[in-house]
Amino acid sequence: MTLLPPGSTIGILGGGQLGRMLASAAAELGYRTHVLAPDAESVAAQTASSFTRADYHSRIVLDEMAELCDVVTYEFENIAIDPVAYLASKVPVHPAPAALEIAQDRASEKAFIDTIGGRTAPWRRVTSIAELQAALTVIGAPAILKTLRLGYDGKGQVRIADAGEAEAAWEAIGQQPAILEGFVTFSHEFSIILARGHDGSMVSYPPPWNQHKDGILALSTLPAPAEIAGQWAVAAALTGRIADALGYVGILTCEFFATVDGPVFNEMAPRVHNSGHWTIEGAVASQFENHIRAICGLPLGDSALTAPAVEMENLIGNDVDRCAEILAEPGAHLHLYGKANARPGRKMGHVTRLKRL
Ligand code: AMP
Repeated sequence: MTLLPPGSTIGILGGGQLGRMLASAAAELGYRTHVLAPDAESVAAQTASSFTRADYHSRIVLDEMAELCDVVTYEFENIAIDPVAYLASKVPVHPAPAALEIAQDRASEKAFIDTIGGRTAPWRRVTSIAELQAALTVIGAPAILKTLRLGYDGKGQVRIADAGEAEAAWEAIGQQPAILEGFVTFSHEFSIILARGHDGSMVSYPPPWNQHKDGILALSTLPAPAEIAGQWAVAAALTGRIADALGYVGILTCEFFATVDGPVFNEMAPRVHNSGHWTIEGAVASQFENHIRAICGLPLGDSALTAPAVEMENLIGNDVDRCAEILAEPGAHLHLYGKANARPGRKMGHVTRLKRL
């Protein structure tokens, strides 16, 4: 593809903090951004050049967006395929809708990873209580039942300690199509964040150690401990194979469990990722900048660390009350997402700390 010149307009589907940070990175490179989201409160709209508040399914709105934008991207993976595919028939859309389709369905995602030589937890697709019980006899307990679609931050999933809990688990996820996954014994969780350009060039970031609290990412730290560092190459190679197989353009994130037998793939996100927010100050070129570079046909930027150690802490709910304290810390960079209400569990901002070892 030809390079998209500065001054061009990048369309962003989705109005959250990822769109907000993408729009800021685009502005730094001289691009305009146009956000489409249905939300009354769009924090991406606050940093974008223009905003349309509308449903994703309106053809009139999508036609306007295709007219206005030179390239379109999206900031969340649960967007319906139909509007994305419609836009893709009129204007370049990156990452391509095929990546979204795979990432939106846990069974397609696991099957895809199995075909390209990645390791996943043992899994079975289940659509009824009988299938769940049969799957439990094969996979054993403990296990995790996850809805096929629309799960995130630990939502839409339930642990099954023994086979007697099958019915309660099936009720708990609303009797929806799901996968049953064997429980993985791991020492750490980490992610590979990789950018792939139109020409197939790739850069990936050093992997952060990701620690969760109540199913939500709490902390990403680098450099990662030895248990992760030793699995970096294998996990990054798999992420690269995924990106190549999909002809992917943009940032792709894969989450892994570090186990004694090597990295086990958990899930992928066809977008910039919370575990990559540290890259804004902690890497030479951030994940947001590299996503913009990739979709605009620019050369990819350097993913090296800018400090010996980096930590990203999510500010969830009333963690934002600590802002004054954080601002007083040397080496700390505070990011607030411009959200009005600090509800429990809501991602309000993050802080990145650049540290000496
Ligand atoms: P997910 O929504 O798939 O990322 O799962 C949320 C969290 O649940 C993960 O970050 C893990 O801490 C845990 N988890 C998910 N799948 C498994 C598994 N198969 N075995 C053990 N823990 C898991």
